[in-house]
Amino acid sequence: MKMSRNFADLKSTDIDHRLNPSSILLVPVGAIEQHGPHLPLSVDLVIAETTVSRIIAERGEELDLWALPPIAISKSNEHVGFAGSLSLRAETLLALLDDLGSGIKETPIRKVVFVNGHGGNSSLLNVACRDLRVAHGLMTFLMHPFIPPDQGGHSPPSEMGMGIHGGYEETSVMLYLCPDLVDMNSALRNIPEKLGKNRYVRFGGTTSFGWLASDFGKYGHIGDPTGATREAGQELFAAALEFVGDQLEEVSKFSFL
Ligand SMILES: [Zn+2]
Repeated sequence: MKMSRNFADLKSTDIDHRLNPSSILLVPVGAIEQHGPHLPLSVDLVIAETTVSRIIAERGEELDLWALPPIAISKSNEHVGFAGSLSLRAETLLALLDDLGSGIKETPIRKVVFVNGHGGNSSLLNVACRDLRVAHGLMTFLMHPFIPPDQGGHSPPSEMGMGIHGGYEETSVMLYLCPDLVDMNSALRNIPEKLGKNRYVRFGGTTSFGWLASDFGKYGHIGDPTGATREAGQELFAAALEFVGDQLEEVSKFSFL
């Protein structure tokens, strides 16, 4: 029988002999926020949590990976005004992460990896990575199963590179992971074409900008989910797992000098 690699399944008395400084603690970071009329609020949580559980099943022993229960609700205030979106303030989330760091520091674990499913958290998680290093001496890392297109990630040309939220890729992945939660009859194209023609001020451009989902119409998603398929989702998710696995392999060998 395989031993659990969930941090929370350990007994307090196991901590010192099951964990060591080369153990890697994965913290799935999700979100509960609107994803348009065709997807559930839980998309980012499902993707972050499933990525962590599958990568631990595949490579947990080899890389000494451990899972923390997910941070399910995070910073989603770009979705304000859409029913069901829940959001922590930046200072609340930073305080939560600092408190977690205080506890983790008391274990042998020194490497903490945020596996982030929600692009709206990325800036703040980078701040937290630095702050946790300063305050608690932890080695901290941030990775994304899918790099958001507004942060250099991929989105098909059919979406003009702007499938940043509830578009082709996220919808395909959800059709693979949780088909019962996807309503393809409600899937529609919602692309800010004017923005897509800009050279600099666009998603993924050199000039970033503050935005709300409501700046792009009433639907909430930004992308084109209409062509999404389960098969595409399966391929995308397999590629994401390999990508995360490769990154974790490097984290496992990582030292500053
Ligand atoms: Zn999402």
